[in-house]
Amino acid sequence: AEEVGGGDKEVVREYFNNSGFQRWKKIYGETDDVNRVQLDIRLGHSKTVENTMLMLTEEGSLKGVTVCDAGCGTGSLAIPLAKQGAIVSASDISAAMVAEARKKAEEELLADNGGEAPVMPKFEVKDLESLDGKYDTVVCLDVLIHYPQSKADGMIAHLASLAEKRLILSFAPKTFYYDLLKRVGELFPGPSKATRAYLHAEADVERALQKVGWKIRKRGLITTQFYFARLVEAVPA
Ligand code: SAM
Repeated sequence: AEEVGGGDKEVVREYFNNSGFQRWKKIYGETDDVNRVQLDIRLGHSKTVENTMLMLTEEGSLKGVTVCDAGCGTGSLAIPLAKQGAIVSASDISAAMVAEARKKAEEELLADNGGEAPVMPKFEVKDLESLDGKYDTVVCLDVLIHYPQSKADGMIAHLASLAEKRLILSFAPKTFYYDLLKRVGELFPGPSKATRAYLHAEADVERALQKVGWKIRKRGLITTQFYFARLVEAVPA
């Protein structure tokens, strides 16, 4: 797979170890020190996690299923996956994110002794381009937004090469309406606008999957006022 090198990745790593970590830890958390926009994004993101869990469990129990959560953030998906019995490998380019995810998993999974003890996810600081191994399922939520389509193609190809049965991706869709919103946002950047956001056309993501022999089986769209995500589940064609 093509390597994502240089610029974007270093900027993203630095951001998610510092100001981005503080910002997203709050958005993905439960505390009420968030503003209206952040609260809306929290809601949208939690719907993405919920829909992903639905897509995953629709095909049967997750017990013993190996899942790679690439770009795991604070563990929003890795923890519910482990609760369902999945064997989770969760990684992120940001050491701060991985530390937070591990802490949360220890709190939530060790405390949860309602049934059989869940297997603790294996957490690692790693960019997704250096992931290896094989997993039943690979999931990568809200990560592609940090990379232009030229880099995203290689990332998608690499993630597909790790997946044996299915690949679930979410990205900010490049629709006319959202494109317009983003342009307006660029004209009036708010104080929290710290990194560039890249939108992806669904057709481009689909083409990247087709190039490596995968096809989209299910699609979902999650929108709130300030959060937009296209969710796709791909399988070998
Ligand atoms: N997937 C998580 C979720 O949905 O809760 C986190 C989403 S957050 C918007 C994006 C995450 O991607 C950050 O934690 C960031 O550090 C991580 N990330 C960005 N580029 C990455 C890369 N090349 N490899 C691995 N992780 C990356």
